[in-house]
Amino acid sequence: MNATKKDVTSFSPEALREKYRLEREKRLRPDGNAQYRDLSGLYADFDKDPYVEPGFTRPVVIETIDVLIVGGGFGGMLSAVRLRQSGVHSIRIVEKGGDFGGTWYWNRYPGAACDVESYIYLPLLEETGYIPTEKYAKAPEIFAHCQRIGRQFDLYKSALFQTQVEQMDWDENARRWNITTNRGDKLAARFVIIAGGVMHKAKLPGIPGIETFKGHSFHTSRWDYAYTGGPTGGLHKLADKRVGIIGTGATAVQAIPHLGASAKQLYVFQRTPSGVGVRNNRPTDESWVKTLQPGWQEARIRNFTALVSGREQDVDLVRDGWTYIFDDTASRRARSPEEAAELRQLADFRKMEEIRARVEAIVKDPVTAEALKPYYNQMCKRPCFHDEYLDTFNRPNVQLVDTEGKGVERITPTGVVVKGREYEVDCLVYASGFEVSSEYTRRLGFDIRGRGGKSLRDSWANGPATLHGMHSRGYPNLLMFSPTQSGWAINFVHILSEQAQHAAYIIERCLKRGVEMIEPTEQAQEQWWGEIFTRLQKGATFGGVDCTPGYLNNEGVRPPPSAIRFAPFGGDTLEFIDVLRSWRKGDELAGLELTTGAAPLATGTA
Ligand code: NDP
Repeated sequence: MNATKKDVTSFSPEALREKYRLEREKRLRPDGNAQYRDLSGLYADFDKDPYVEPGFTRPVVIETIDVLIVGGGFGGMLSAVRLRQSGVHSIRIVEKGGDFGGTWYWNRYPGAACDVESYIYLPLLEETGYIPTEKYAKAPEIFAHCQRIGRQFDLYKSALFQTQVEQMDWDENARRWNITTNRGDKLAARFVIIAGGVMHKAKLPGIPGIETFKGHSFHTSRWDYAYTGGPTGGLHKLADKRVGIIGTGATAVQAIPHLGASAKQLYVFQRTPSGVGVRNNRPTDESWVKTLQPGWQEARIRNFTALVSGREQDVDLVRDGWTYIFDDTASRRARSPEEAAELRQLADFRKMEEIRARVEAIVKDPVTAEALKPYYNQMCKRPCFHDEYLDTFNRPNVQLVDTEGKGVERITPTGVVVKGREYEVDCLVYASGFEVSSEYTRRLGFDIRGRGGKSLRDSWANGPATLHGMHSRGYPNLLMFSPTQSGWAINFVHILSEQAQHAAYIIERCLKRGVEMIEPTEQAQEQWWGEIFTRLQKGATFGGVDCTPGYLNNEGVRPPPSAIRFAPFGGDTLEFIDVLRSWRKGDELAGLELTTGAAPLATGTA
């Protein structure tokens, strides 16, 4: 897939092991996640929504509903769709952005596109009758698909946009959640689904002097087109600007070719290079579309997830960089788990050698090429795929400023300092990512007070207890979507689709049977944790602490023992999905205490 002329089979595993270790050590820092700043206080301006008109107002909403959904991204929308389809109509969706879309509402930076194939990433293609125009659709098309789902399933009438939940309290007498928002709304909901997303809280690097910068700056998830020009017609306003971009993760890899093509001068400040494989995007083949039979999308989604879980399949329907990375053929001939692990490691070395050879083949300046080579295992960082990124460094107006793993030293009123040298810039773009491994309750941004007023943050101080990662005792009628004790997938929308179906099934059953309160038993939670723990002991990795630091491994800092309970399910994605599906097949809501009663039914008809 990434083949180049260089022989990539003649590497020394020992030398690579040592190189990986050294590169990791260079980057380890004791402050871990604390090195980042959230977009509040001094940095609150970075969090402003640039895509809405200022001054939005609307009447306060006071109502009682069956279901409140927090989040209008794919998770929230899919939940609303599945609820509607099962006859539950009293729904409210509260969303911080000015429209549906979540990630695809916020991330409008130039070059943004899905990096998992669009035919399996965009949900509800068969239901909406839509086929993406390219194998990897660009952000505006994905955002438009979110709006299509909103229109087609009549979700807009249920949405409260530009609104944030501030507080959620369980009312034991009414058996409902009381929710307040930053717009003064007071909502009483029988059930609450929290589908707030995994990467919605943007972060800035805690570089000394950030607040002193006098030029223009913004985070990639709040792209300032008013300043840069575009999105159509290129970033023409940058033609006379010196631009710096901090970060070289998946976002930067997509944005940098556009900045390089438009800016007078572009400085790319790199701490760790991404591994960038071949993308090979192409327009949708109409003759292929004609061959699609009902059920094709589900089959394609499952085929991809099986392959990237290392399962054998007769056919690889997607055939891209992801399925190449996870092709586990090499280890199948192993006679022991140790031998399988070693064969896997050798395959990983070989594939990363291909990635490094690709850099060498494309980037002309040997010093720049060397600095762009990643030295870590493939899944230590999110693998990237791009056909123009590396070539951008051949442009005369683009300079890689490699910080050799140390990060930017300082920001001054006029520029960025690396290794004692100041690079003057007019504009600074922070491609510094999102909070992922910080506490779930911190990322949520509001407090959840369950039975007896106990905050979820306190209850989970020593690690969460859940059933399926979705329910937690003491927090009745709350259904959470997060990777904690739950499923994880390369194609994350696959997990969200299943969680949405699961949540809708439970709520529909409860409403139909007059069940007013559900809560997992202690025993069910312990049993669920037991299942996860067994998998962790069998070798499912949690954190990958030996990797180069990043958000996937808590910045290389070994988490405290209590944090182990924040681990995901541990088995592969399809195994988790099968657990949920067979639980539903039992049709008993097993492990949940059910309370029926005489409290009044919902009156809202949102
Ligand atoms: P990342 O967290 O992956 O990248 C942040 C970047 O900022 C890293 O390169 C990091 O370096 C760098 N950085 C942090 N602090 C400093 C510092 N002090 N000095 C210099 N550099 C610094 O964020 P992204 O937004 O790129 O991606 C986040 C995730 O979003 C992806 O992993 C992916 O899951 C998703 N995504 C998906 C896309 C898609 O589906 N199409 C596209 C884009 C993103 P270091 O590596 O050393 O920490």
